[in-house]
Amino acid sequence: MAETQGKVITCKAAVAWGPKEPLVIQEICVDPPQKMEVRLQILYSSICHTDLGFWNGTNEAERAFPRILGHEAVGIVESVGEGVKDVKEGDYVIPAFNGECGECRVCTKEESNLCEKYQVDPMKRVMVSDGGTRFSTTTTKDGGSSKSQRIYHFLNTSTFTEYTVLDSACVVKIDPNAPLKQMSLLSCGVSTGVGAAWNSANVKEGTTTAVFGLGSVGLAVAEGARARGASRIIGVDANASKFEKSKLMGVTDFVNPKDLTKPVHQMIREITGGGVDYSFECTGNVDVLREAFLSTHVGWGSTVLVGIYPTPRTLPLHPMELFEGRKITGSVFGGFKPKSQLPNFAQQCMKGVVKLEPFITNELPFEKINDAFQLLRDGKSLRCILQIAKFLKR
Ligand code: NAD
Ligand code: ZN
Ligand code: ZN
Repeated sequence: MAETQGKVITCKAAVAWGPKEPLVIQEICVDPPQKMEVRLQILYSSICHTDLGFWNGTNEAERAFPRILGHEAVGIVESVGEGVKDVKEGDYVIPAFNGECGECRVCTKEESNLCEKYQVDPMKRVMVSDGGTRFSTTTTKDGGSSKSQRIYHFLNTSTFTEYTVLDSACVVKIDPNAPLKQMSLLSCGVSTGVGAAWNSANVKEGTTTAVFGLGSVGLAVAEGARARGASRIIGVDANASKFEKSKLMGVTDFVNPKDLTKPVHQMIREITGGGVDYSFECTGNVDVLREAFLSTHVGWGSTVLVGIYPTPRTLPLHPMELFEGRKITGSVFGGFKPKSQLPNFAQQCMKGVVKLEPFITNELPFEKINDAFQLLRDGKSLRCILQIAKFLKR
C-alpha cells in the first residue's frame, strides 16, 4: 500500500520461542521486500501438522527459534520488490512452501515440482537473496524490551503474522472473487492430498485405495480418489472420531488398528482379495508406512508417502520385498507446480470437483492460535481457520 511501501511495518505475529512453548502474540518489525521478494498482508491462515512438527522441535536440525511458523494461508500483496512482474499490490494470493522459479532445469521439465532454488527445505530459515531475515523484534517473550533480534523464517512462507515477506517464486495469484478461507487450504493440505492422488499415484477409475491417517491431508487424498472414480476407499485411523466426517470425502470402509488382533495390511488384503491398487501414508509414522506398503497388491500395488517423519529411522522395508513388484514413491505438495498448476486447481475446486468446505472444522481469532494448535494435537480439528487481519467480511 502506498503509505507503507518501502517502510518497515510494525505489526502483530505469533512467535515460537522454543520447542513446545506456547506461541507469543507480540509486536514485530517486517522489513520491506528486497529484489524479487513480495510483502503480504495475511488475511487467514490455517494450521497443518507440519507446523506442529516444527513447533515440537523433536529433530535438533529443525530447531530454529525465535521463528514464525505457518504455511497455509491467503493474503493480499502489500508491496513488491525490484524485478517482481507477475504479482502487484492488491493482488489476492496464496503462499507456496514449495516454490517455482520457472527457469531452472526442474521448473522447465514436467517430471518434478522440486524447483532447484525454491523447493521446500526444512533446514532453511533465512531469505535466499542475502541470507538475512525480514522479521525482527525488540520485545522479549515475556513482554520486556531487548535490543533488536532477528526472527527466523519457516518453509519459504511464515504465515502466523499480520505481514510476511516471501520470495516471489513462492507466491501464487488467485481469483479475487474466490472464497478466501477455502483458498487458504490450497496452500498446503488439500493440494498435497489431492495432488498425491492425481499427480503422484494417478488414481484410475474403478480402482481401490487405502488411506492411512484421516487428517486433512489423508482426507484430501480420499477426496481426490473419489473425484477420479475410485470404487473403494479404505480409511485407516487410530482415532475413531474421524470416521463420520470421512464419509463426506468418499471413504467407503473404515479400519481402526486398535480394534484389530492382526496387522492392518493383513486385514486390508483379506477384504480386497489380495490388496489395494494404491495406498497413501498420511500419518507421519514409519511403522504405518510399512503397513501401507504391504497393504497393496503384489505385482502392481503403488504406495505414496506423504507424511513427514521426524525420527532418524529409515524406510522399514527389506530390499527383497521390492521383488514382489510393489512400488513406493514420495510426494511433496502433491507434485503440483504451484505457479503454473494451482490456479487451474483452484478453479476446479470452485466448480466443486473437489469440495473444500468440509475441511474447515473450526474458526478462531488470531489471538487464540494456541487453542487452535491444541485442537489439532488432540485430533479434534481438520483445519482451523485463524482470522489474522481484522475487519474481514469474507
Ligand atoms: P493430522 O494430524 O490432521 O492427521 C494425521 C492423522 O493420522 C490423524 O487423524 C491421526 O489420528 C492419524 N494417525 C496418527 N498416528 C496414527 C497411527 N499410528 N495409526 C493410524 N492413524 C494415525 O495431520 P495432517 O495435517 O493431515 O498431516 C498429515 C501428515 O502429512 C503429517 O505428517 C504432515 O507433516 C504431512 N504433510 C506432508 C506434506 C508433503 O508435502 N509431503 C504436506 C503437508 C503435510
Ligand atoms: Zn502443510
Ligand atoms: Zn525452479
